[in-house]
Amino acid sequence: MSDCIDLHTHSTASDGTDSPAGVVEAAIDAGVTVLALTDHDTTAGWAEAEQAARTRADAPTLVRGMEMSCTGRGEDGDPVTVHLLAYLFDADDPALKEERRRLREERELRLRRMIGKMAAAGYDVDADAILDAAGPSAGRPHLARALVDLGVVSTVGEAFEDLLKTGGRFYVEKTDTPLDDAVAMIAAAGGVSVIAHARARKRGRLLHLDHILDLARSGVLGGLEVDHPDHGPADTELLRGIAREHGLITTGSSDYHGTNKTTPLAARTTDPEQYAMLLDRATGIDVVLPGSSR
Ligand code: AMP
Ligand code: FE
Ligand code: FE
Ligand code: ZN
Repeated sequence: MSDCIDLHTHSTASDGTDSPAGVVEAAIDAGVTVLALTDHDTTAGWAEAEQAARTRADAPTLVRGMEMSCTGRGEDGDPVTVHLLAYLFDADDPALKEERRRLREERELRLRRMIGKMAAAGYDVDADAILDAAGPSAGRPHLARALVDLGVVSTVGEAFEDLLKTGGRFYVEKTDTPLDDAVAMIAAAGGVSVIAHARARKRGRLLHLDHILDLARSGVLGGLEVDHPDHGPADTELLRGIAREHGLITTGSSDYHGTNKTTPLAARTTDPEQYAMLLDRATGIDVVLPGSSR
């Protein structure tokens, strides 16, 4: 079987619509041979995904990961949100564990404030019900779903368009992890960090390329996600060039979110050689092999 490596997916542990075991099953159906589960700011889906991968002999190799929301330097010099993928780190590392705890609290507080704005605007939203349904990593997509269910908008995408997007009517900021700190914490926990969709411009302002270059020169950053559904050919080439010049790993992935987005699994994939480099660099935990007992 030829390799089909998808290193960025989400489950119901954050803002995907498939359970962690469901993502593993969907990956089997899609012919994915290496799957990374990278929920936003949480490892809560790891155990279930691991169980699913160990139970099924036809499961993909499972790479346990996470996608951290960080703050970097924007092209205009102002702070900008950056997503950082983290792979194969030790989930018991105290500093990273404490940061996940902080982020969970921060996400809940921020969502309550956003729901407060909606209630003040006359929408009948129940904060506790939304947060209960959201699970361990409550985010804007959960609010988007609630708005769809209320009939305020017809799709999750539409909810983002003016209500939930950065600066939108119901938007409230949250305090993300400084990018340099996150890269250092992941490395200290034996993991490999990869900047996610750095040129996904339709999401808003972009990370300054100088910030990527500074991190690349530091030697602590692992790589760049180059092939991503939100990158055009020019973005892909730009990032691949930077990676080549600075010895960074390049990855590709679907950023699958189930039905919360339209991209299917394996819409973009990672080169096997690049995946091998990622494995070489990781010292935190091992991948989970299909059908393996513990
Ligand atoms: P949050 O982490 O709560 O700020 O929410 C950010 C998440 O919302 C991202 O990780 C995306 O998965 C999702 N998102 C952002 N923009 C859109 C959009 N236009 N349509 C659907 N999902 C989106
Ligand atoms: Fe997401
Ligand atoms: Fe992301
Ligand atoms: Zn993602």
